[in-house]
Amino acid sequence: MADNDRHLAIYAAHAQVSRGRLVAEPVPQFRSEYQRDRDRIVHSAAFRRLEYKTQVFVNHEGDMFRTRLTHSIEVAQIGRSIARALQLNEDLTEAIALAHDLGHTPFGHAGQDVLNQCMRDYGGFEHNLQSLRVVDELEEKYADFQGLNLTFETREGILKHCNLDKARQLDEIGQRFLQKSQPGLEAQLANLADEIAYNNHDVDDGLRAGLISVEQLCEIKLFRCQYDVVKGLYPDISGRRMVHEIIRRMINDQVADLINNTQQNLNKYKPGSITEVRDLSEPMVCFSADMGDLNLQLKQFLRKQLYQHYRVQRMSNKAGRVIKNLFDAFMAEAKMLPPEQFEKCERLESRQGEAGRARAVADYVAGMTDRYAIVEHDRIFNPSALT
Ligand code: MG
Repeated sequence: MADNDRHLAIYAAHAQVSRGRLVAEPVPQFRSEYQRDRDRIVHSAAFRRLEYKTQVFVNHEGDMFRTRLTHSIEVAQIGRSIARALQLNEDLTEAIALAHDLGHTPFGHAGQDVLNQCMRDYGGFEHNLQSLRVVDELEEKYADFQGLNLTFETREGILKHCNLDKARQLDEIGQRFLQKSQPGLEAQLANLADEIAYNNHDVDDGLRAGLISVEQLCEIKLFRCQYDVVKGLYPDISGRRMVHEIIRRMINDQVADLINNTQQNLNKYKPGSITEVRDLSEPMVCFSADMGDLNLQLKQFLRKQLYQHYRVQRMSNKAGRVIKNLFDAFMAEAKMLPPEQFEKCERLESRQGEAGRARAVADYVAGMTDRYAIVEHDRIFNPSALT
């Protein structure tokens, strides 16, 4: 294999010292191990389904809003920029970014919350753990193994958080939650690239939907600073062009702060390898204290003004009912599942009883796109719908 890692910093994830795959495979001839991970993710069915899954706005509300697919691509873009600037592993960062939302239910967080309630007696449902389940088990594409058989480092990045109970049930991937150690830097940065991406694109989408206004946003320092800069440079600018000029500067500011602050941390702690990064008591990739505060203010604004907007709430509520109805219907009568899902349901049920059946139903419902869930709901509950 070509030495793809020569240009990387000493504390980056180097493929040569990867903790490997669950099933050992020959080293790829022309790609790095993490490129191979990325490529497997891009070719997965779960990745294609992100196109029709909600970020904040339900898929059919408009073609201009972010979906989970475009969100994941934006996370990958921001993550790679930061990785390159810090001499971290871009391929690994991209793989984590593209996979981080694979386990999301239809209808965003509303879907996950309801599915978690449905699964209350059967071990719960958490999208982050589900993303790992997708790449470890649910994708059925390869003759030699279940799932995508990704490297430890990509899986480590996908599993951003995990409670201790669940961590004990996992393989070595759960260890860091029990030991309170850190993931590699690429995982840390993919997590923050996610945050930068959604905070900024939710401002954009919220404005586009007319749920929040420029006047409201001018109360938020992060936005106001860039609004003043843009209006100073281009006094006549307005509309979409103005919004984009502001948001691109906001992203740039946050990315620059993250790079500078992280570099300072690395210079101070001087980890000599990814192992030493994992052993540190704190994550190295983080915003400066000032930017952290500004970011928090924006997040709180979005929560109150956008995510809790009555129109978003109505849609979330409706979406929640769709998920609950589907789950309850399949739990009560598993024979309504498509044959492949039914077989899996029987298999899991024979091993784990009712909890196994519930897990199979949750996997099926979680895998649906927004529009598939709506169609499936119609097929099951609308007497005049064609089945
Ligand atoms: Mg995300």
